[in-house]
Amino acid sequence: MKALQYRKVGEPPEIVEIDKPKPGPGQVLLQVTAAGACHSDDFVLKAPEGQFPYPLPMTLGHEGAGRVVELGEGTEGVAGIEVGANVVVYGPWGCGTCWFCAQGLENYCSRAADLGIYPPGLGSPGAMAEYMIVDSPRHLVPIGDLDPVATVPLTDAGLTPYHAIKLSLPKIVAGTDVVVIGSGGLGHVAIQLLRHLTPARVIALDVTEEKLEFAKSVGAHEAVLSDANAVEAVRKITGPAGARAVFDFVGYQPTIDTALGVVGTQGDVTIVGIGDGVAHARIGFFGQPYEVAARTPYWGSRPELIELIALAHEGVLDVATETFSLDDAPEAYRRLSANELRGRAVIVP
Ligand code: NAD
Ligand code: ZN
Ligand code: ZN
Repeated sequence: MKALQYRKVGEPPEIVEIDKPKPGPGQVLLQVTAAGACHSDDFVLKAPEGQFPYPLPMTLGHEGAGRVVELGEGTEGVAGIEVGANVVVYGPWGCGTCWFCAQGLENYCSRAADLGIYPPGLGSPGAMAEYMIVDSPRHLVPIGDLDPVATVPLTDAGLTPYHAIKLSLPKIVAGTDVVVIGSGGLGHVAIQLLRHLTPARVIALDVTEEKLEFAKSVGAHEAVLSDANAVEAVRKITGPAGARAVFDFVGYQPTIDTALGVVGTQGDVTIVGIGDGVAHARIGFFGQPYEVAARTPYWGSRPELIELIALAHEGVLDVATETFSLDDAPEAYRRLSANELRGRAVIVP
C-alpha cells in the first residue's frame, strides 16, 4: 500500500510503498477515508537531528477517519465497530487503565511514555496511508453517515479547542469577550464552538486580511490584525474589563504577550499553539489582573470526541477543508507551512 512517510530527519516526507498491515489481537484495521494535516506535524518535521522524538521511518497523520475492514482477535462484538463501519480515530492513545485514562483523559495517560504507547502519526504508524492499524476499538468513534473529510479534523482541530474551551466554559457568561489568536485549522473550529456553546463576543486575531475575513465568515464578531498594536486594538473593543478568556493557537512570544495584555480580571489564558513562548515571566502578583489563570492543554478526552461527533450530527459545525490526494500530501504540508490554507488540509487516499 501507499503511505506518506517521514524517513530521514531534515528531508521532506515521501510517498512509499509498504506492506498492508494485519491487525493483531485487540487491534482493528481501517481503510483510510480521510487524514488531516496538522501544524504540529510541521513542528515535528522541523525538529533537528537528535531532537526528533519518534522512531523512523514514521507514517504521518494523527487525524484519521476510515472504514473498518478487519477486526483483530478479541475485538468482535464491540458496539458500532463492525466491518464496514464509518469511524474516526481518537488519537491520544493511552494505557486505558491509569487514573487519567479511567476518566477518558487518555491524552494525559501517566503510563503511555513508559509503555512506549504513541499516537498514530506521532510515533505509531499514522493515517496518511491506504490502511492503518488502530490499537483498540476503544479508540474508534462511529460517525454513521457523516462525511469523513469534513469530520476527520474534529479528531484534533476540533477536539483540542473543544477541550480547551470546556475548561473555561463556566467563566464565559453573557456580556464577556473571548479572544481567539490564530484562525487556522484549530482556530476556525474554536470560533464556531465558542459561538455555539457560549453567549460571548468573539474577537479573532490573525496576520492577514484574508484570514480575518475567514474568521468573520465562521462567526467571529470582530477581527483584529495580530501586530504590535493588537493589545490596544482589542482593549478598545473590550473596554476596561478585558477578555474573559484568550485562546492562543500560535504560542510564540508575541502572541502570548498579546494574550496577557488583553486578558481581564479572573480571565483564562490558554496556550494551545506549540510555539516557544512563555507566560511565566508575567505571572506574579503585580504582573496581570487579579485571578488570571494560564494553562497549556494537550489534545482532548475520549468522551469529548464523542460529544463533538454528536455536535457534528446536529449540523452546527462547518469545518473548512481543502482536499489533497495521498500523492499530493507533500504539497498539503508545503501549503500548511507557508500559511496558504483556508481551514484544514485533508488527504483523501
Ligand atoms: P494552522 O497553520 O492551521 O493555523 C495557524 C494560524 O495562526 C494561521 O491562520 C496563521 O495565519 C495564524 N498565525 C500565525 N502567526 C500568527 C500571529 N503572530 N498572530 C495571530 N495569528 C497567527 O495551525 P493549526 O493546525 O491550527 O495549529 C495551531 C497550533 O496549535 C500549532 O502550533 C499546532 O502545533 C498547535 N496544536 C496544539 C495542540 C495541543 O494539543 N496543544 C493540538 C493541535 C495543534
Ligand atoms: Zn495535531
Ligand atoms: Zn493511562
